[in-house]
Amino acid sequence: MNNEVLIPATRRQQFSGVGVAPGRVVGQVRQMPKPVQEPRANAAVAADVNLAVQGQRIKDAAKAVQAELRSRAAAVEGEGREVLEATALMAADPMLVKSAIKLLAPEVPGGARTPERAIWEAGEAVAEKLRALGGYMAERATDVLDVRARIVSELRGLPAPGIPVSDIPFILAAEDLAPADTATLDPAKIIALITSSGGPQSHTAILARALGLPAVVAARGVDGIADGTEVYVDGAAGSITAEPDAELIVAAAAWAAQASTLTAFNGANVLADGLRIPLLANVGTGADAIKAAAAGAEGVGLLRTEFCFLDRDEEPTVEEQIAAYGAVFAAFPGKKVVVRTLDAGADKPLPFLTNADEPNPALGVRGYRTDLTSPGVLERQLLAIAAAESVHQAEVWVMAPMISTSDEAADFAALCAAAGLKTPGVMVEVPSAALTAATVLREVAFASLGTNDLTQYAMAADRQLGPLAALNNPWQPAVLQLVKLTADGAALASSASGLPKPVGVCGEAAADPALAVVLVGLGVASLSMSARALAAVSAVLPTVTLDQARHLAFTALAAPSATEARAAVRAGLPILDELGL
Ligand code: PEP
Ligand code: MG
Repeated sequence: MNNEVLIPATRRQQFSGVGVAPGRVVGQVRQMPKPVQEPRANAAVAADVNLAVQGQRIKDAAKAVQAELRSRAAAVEGEGREVLEATALMAADPMLVKSAIKLLAPEVPGGARTPERAIWEAGEAVAEKLRALGGYMAERATDVLDVRARIVSELRGLPAPGIPVSDIPFILAAEDLAPADTATLDPAKIIALITSSGGPQSHTAILARALGLPAVVAARGVDGIADGTEVYVDGAAGSITAEPDAELIVAAAAWAAQASTLTAFNGANVLADGLRIPLLANVGTGADAIKAAAAGAEGVGLLRTEFCFLDRDEEPTVEEQIAAYGAVFAAFPGKKVVVRTLDAGADKPLPFLTNADEPNPALGVRGYRTDLTSPGVLERQLLAIAAAESVHQAEVWVMAPMISTSDEAADFAALCAAAGLKTPGVMVEVPSAALTAATVLREVAFASLGTNDLTQYAMAADRQLGPLAALNNPWQPAVLQLVKLTADGAALASSASGLPKPVGVCGEAAADPALAVVLVGLGVASLSMSARALAAVSAVLPTVTLDQARHLAFTALAAPSATEARAAVRAGLPILDELGL
């Protein structure tokens, strides 16, 4: 995206991408500003530059940032207000501004800096001091870097970084959203997400489904639509229309009326012939878990523990971890909670575990593999999970992400046993684990299919890349084959051991009501999804028997493409159109 060349979209201009969360809405676009680029080091500074004027520019920019943050703080409540107020204080920090002004002088080592470069370096120096202090102070380093980015944007006359502020609800347009952006996203203000990049398994897509927001990803050109342009978004069809006509406005209103009938999960979790398919929730924090429990989820099928610590530069203490996991367990007394150990890397970097310089992060030291490079972190996490379990009533299962071999599964099971955790499992998201499920499942008690990563690895298509969105589709028959192989392998392991070896799905595929039917037909025993998706999935499952689900699954497996697999299954499930799903 280039903030300087935004042009108003011409009347009824169309953009098409991949629909990742259904819904039809009309609203104004607000662009997510581009991340602030580092100002060039050694940029030439004219010898006759007026230092006082340059210094004043830095002071004015810092004041403007402080005023902006204060007025935003006044407009929000609770934790959000505290965070903004604390950041506003940092913007006015005389140490930051004074040390930046010093760097404008020609006699400092390295020569005179431009105001942008001076604030950039001064911000880094303050952040470095805070990091050296450790603990709470070290965590404030990120806030200083945020302030410095805001001051640089102000000096450049560009919009402030981060989610835009608006008095009216809007459609957020971006190149893509990072997991960290999600923390500041106000679902009451945003009515749809549209991105020019990202795929169906990107974090933008996951977030949209979690919030129940219509979303289209990989729609080239939407990051060039001017702020304020009115657009129509169809999150099922994957289309965006600028300056919509009356017909589209009526379509959006009709969808809003229809959607309001499908917001509540009624707890239905049996197929037409009575087979029970537990419907669980994917959560990242205690707050998510409280919402999921209130929405009627039967338990948690995926606790993404890295989401508790995405903003951390250092490994959280065992006590902090016990509190974070305990908050989730407390929301589900007597119910199953599947905890996934830290899944750092690629789309979810954690500075204390992953190396930002890896050439191929998705194929790198990520997920369970970080135990190779950061020994001890996993053991401490397992101890924290066990300690949290001991003071709550949740039935805790634990699984490792990115398991590739049965040896890794056995090692993980041994670590769980050493920590006193009784139900170890693995995520199946690497094709090798799906292909060898019978031996992998011999080592552990259960498996959960991570269809987001399984798709990216089966299709060799980075889940974050818009141009590869068509490949990165869990309806790909190759991906469905891997799901079937996993379920079949688990059934073999189960009959060999005489123990149940259930296979669930916790990837986004489970949240697509048509695909959910296919997954059940392929032998999946439980489905875990964002709490918002429960209502739609539970509206469709009771309309089919297991035999019908199997028949639809085989239709999908036999289809020559993802598009044809989806179309054939949808044709066999007319309820989807009736419900507008
Ligand atoms: C997956 O890969 O399907 C999954 C559930 O894990 P994540 O999306 O967090 O990588
Ligand atoms: Mg994954």
